[in-house]
Amino acid sequence: MIKTFEKVKLLNRETSLEFLPNLSRELGPDIYVKRDDEGGRGGGGNKLRKYERIIADAISKDCDTLIIAGHYQSNAARALIGVARQLNLRPVVVCKEMVPEQNPSFNENGNSLLMKLMAADIVSINKEDDFQTEMGKVARRLEAEGRKPYIIPFGGSNTLGSMGYVDCANEIQNQFENINNDGPDYVVTALGSGGTMAGLVAGFSNTKTKVVGFSVLHKDDTVNKIVEGLAGEILPKGSSLDYEINTDFVGEGYGFPTDKGIESIKLLAELEGLFLCPVYTGKAMAGLIDFTRSNRIRKGDTVVFVHTGGMPLVHGYYNRF
Ligand SMILES: *Cc1c(COP(=O)(O)O)cnc(C)c1O
Repeated sequence: MIKTFEKVKLLNRETSLEFLPNLSRELGPDIYVKRDDEGGRGGGGNKLRKYERIIADAISKDCDTLIIAGHYQSNAARALIGVARQLNLRPVVVCKEMVPEQNPSFNENGNSLLMKLMAADIVSINKEDDFQTEMGKVARRLEAEGRKPYIIPFGGSNTLGSMGYVDCANEIQNQFENINNDGPDYVVTALGSGGTMAGLVAGFSNTKTKVVGFSVLHKDDTVNKIVEGLAGEILPKGSSLDYEINTDFVGEGYGFPTDKGIESIKLLAELEGLFLCPVYTGKAMAGLIDFTRSNRIRKGDTVVFVHTGGMPLVHGYYNRF
């Protein structure tokens, strides 16, 4: 049995599962989108499901301040500030430049602008500084002021965070009962710090569904180890897992847009009125498009593309369109 933990409710309802008729016609398979970009505070996105158990843990430890590591265009930091505001906890972002400036307003637009609107407490550190060390320093300073700080794990990807995506897998399975009896053939996601993928892999264990993750960060085996490790912590040993990790669409690196990613953003906007982003979902969609063109996913298959959010990044990278 999968372990459960307390949750604070950050999503008020299930996110919708929508058929994409025009993209399906274009690519062949029956493609659905799981709208994890909708709902919740701070602009929403996949981090909210991860924070439901992480923040419950913080509250159970009587913490009143949440510290997160991020960069100026971080979805994770932007969403955390939003839910911290909702719950009346104090958000602190330990922030450094992780992606070189893509245009003159890069550090002021998109997520950065939204963080400013929510009046986040931003502690800027140097590029060379270590996040863990600096977050520890900030935590000690806050403790000296009488606060009780809680450090959010990187990307929200620990066991508690990943379990949010077991919830998502369960939702997809329930929603699929209206479509067929045994779930989708493939679930496709962007893969950064790994918690989203790991939760989906665990949630779809012992089913016919294969989870495909397109990396946007690591290009080596690190990403396999993270997913295997987290899924293994959630599930009993010997569970049957079916997944594939692909690192061909990272491009130059995290936060560097790729031509294929940009093309896929334009395609989804034109065909379906859906907005993807250049850092995560655009690259994952580029991967899905490539898998259909090379017949690794084909006509007759059913696919769920998990829209993990990140729309503010379109503004951050406006000059690429
Ligand atoms: C953080 C993020 C991801 C990656 O999720 P991980 O659990 O870190 O792998 C994907 N898409 C968007 C929009 C994100 O903000």
